[in-house]
Amino acid sequence: MNPKPNHKLTEGHKMWLTVMSVFAVYATIFILFEDYDRKFLMPFDEVSDWHLLLFSLAVMAVLAFLLFRYARRMDERISREQAEKENRMRRELTQNIAHELKTPVASILGYTETILDNPAISDDMSRQFIVRTHSQAQRLTALLQDISTLNKMDYAPDLLKMERVDVSALFADIVQETALAIDARQMTLRNYLPQDIIVQGNPSLLYSIFRNLVDNAVSYAGRGSVVEVSAVEQPHHWQFTFKDNGIGIPAEHQPRIFERFYRIDKGRSRDMGGTGLGLAIVKNAVLLHGGNITISNAEPSGLKFEFTLSKKSQAQ
Ligand code: ATP
Ligand code: MG
Repeated sequence: MNPKPNHKLTEGHKMWLTVMSVFAVYATIFILFEDYDRKFLMPFDEVSDWHLLLFSLAVMAVLAFLLFRYARRMDERISREQAEKENRMRRELTQNIAHELKTPVASILGYTETILDNPAISDDMSRQFIVRTHSQAQRLTALLQDISTLNKMDYAPDLLKMERVDVSALFADIVQETALAIDARQMTLRNYLPQDIIVQGNPSLLYSIFRNLVDNAVSYAGRGSVVEVSAVEQPHHWQFTFKDNGIGIPAEHQPRIFERFYRIDKGRSRDMGGTGLGLAIVKNAVLLHGGNITISNAEPSGLKFEFTLSKKSQAQ
């Protein structure tokens, strides 16, 4: 999915280089020690050292040629398989997007048609339908926004503006913005983040990381649950822990939870306005900030996310 050119050595070439290095070491030993270890390296006295060396070089050249061809074929196969996988993922993604767009669009059409086709509909009823239409339109906007964020990270990460971001202040804002929702579910949000967590990053993506995690805890952890956020400073990055003591995610779902559109209880998640893009955005944003993220069960219950954010971002 990432169109950035890959300057790393391919697997095939790594193998080829390894074998060639072994040969080079062999030839060096042969030249350096031919007088000292004649018996070990050259058991046939009648063949001169130089003939044997030339013969070895010829064998090396033929082997190098064969290995090079094999490595090229191997790389071609790997990139063909990768291209097929990417195509399959793109097709699935388009299908998922179409599917997710269909539901709110169908609702909007249904509600507005009902109002238009029934001029005698009561004011109360028509207001109810307009409110529902509005919330479906909001859902569509959020979905399109998420898709656009992921697209930006996939195809134009270099265009993302990186600046000095105070993560402690950013999270304090999120705590305020979500206070009503947290209270409404009798939840507690414990913010143990130290002051002045500064990273070089994209403010909107960093906001998305923490906002998605808080929103998820609010939506899924359950009434009365407790959410804790903490961070430890390391020389080059910050190590964050975000955990709740709610219902958690069964272990078998955890490896796939960062995939786009992956939801555990599709019906329940969709009722809560979820499309399954939140954690995909979180993961991509963390990677883009030179970090990584893992998910595990919290003790004694709930979910724990551990992730790092590099102090100096790699994206620019
Ligand atoms: P979106 O975030 O795009 O609106 P979503 O919340 O369904 O939709 P994700 O944020 O990717 O998508 O979460 C994927 C799924 O993981 C959710 O549907 C939910 O089932 C589960 N989940 C996420 N966070 C928690 C949590 N803190 N506790 C329990 N389940 C969770
Ligand atoms: Mg979510």
